[in-house]
Amino acid sequence: MTAIFDLTGKTALVTGANTGLGEGICKALAEAGATVYGTGRREGGYVSILADLLDKDAPLSIMNALLAKAGRIDILVNNAGTIRRADVLEFSDKDWDEVLQVNLTALFKLSQLAARQFAAQGTGGKIINIASMLSFQGGIRVASYTAAKSAVRGLTLEMANELAPKGINVNAIAPGYMVTNNTEALRSDPERSESILARIPAGRWGRPSDLSGAAVFLASAASDYVHGVTLPVDGGWLGR
Ligand code: NAP
Repeated sequence: MTAIFDLTGKTALVTGANTGLGEGICKALAEAGATVYGTGRREGGYVSILADLLDKDAPLSIMNALLAKAGRIDILVNNAGTIRRADVLEFSDKDWDEVLQVNLTALFKLSQLAARQFAAQGTGGKIINIASMLSFQGGIRVASYTAAKSAVRGLTLEMANELAPKGINVNAIAPGYMVTNNTEALRSDPERSESILARIPAGRWGRPSDLSGAAVFLASAASDYVHGVTLPVDGGWLGR
């Protein structure tokens, strides 16, 4: 049974691998047997390729660096993401553009490059996008983040439709409220923190390791007939 989750011999590329959920996903894929290459803006965690995804050329330079090191790719995890908080009336162009660039445009470009490489290899492959509760809900004071993460869910469906016939699985994971830098502002606001916790049926915030099972499942042969899903890993949040 465990053979269908085995990633031995697989090469994985994970963006945002220096910290938080990306670091946790790298650890899970590595423990399942994959050789993992992480990207980041700075060293740390599993980072072996340095790149800033605000740079429009970064996806191509990341893929070239990966192919120079590993010669192939089997699994892409589009995890890197950024969030900006401001009221709609004050929302700046910069906070709009930068979030869309990192969370959506770079994700699409890397997925496109990975899909081309899967085709060149004559293999299928796995693309896993990190979505959010705000792929399903509106949120508040996070206009560009909600726009991007909702688009990630739609794009996951769209790419799954086009790429499934080529043996490529495109799916997403929607983490709930997890303890990382991304939620630091929420957790340091006692009122927001308490109201969020009260709504989580599991009774606790999530940890990076809570994504391990979903990540390995979507990266492995166990999910070969799963396409276009955005899988919530949220302690039950969306059911409330
Ligand atoms: P995090 O600790 O803030 O990690 C975000 C990662 O993205 C970091 O590695 C960060 O690198 C990278 N990143 C941000 N801007 C970048 C850029 N311009 N170029 C390259 N890398 C960049 O938060 P996290 O919670 O682990 O977030 C990982 C993913 O999960 C994100 O897509 C986030 O939206 C999503 N998510 C998180 C939660 C949650 O509750 N934590 C819930 C739903 C979805 P630096 O360290 O260099 O900034």
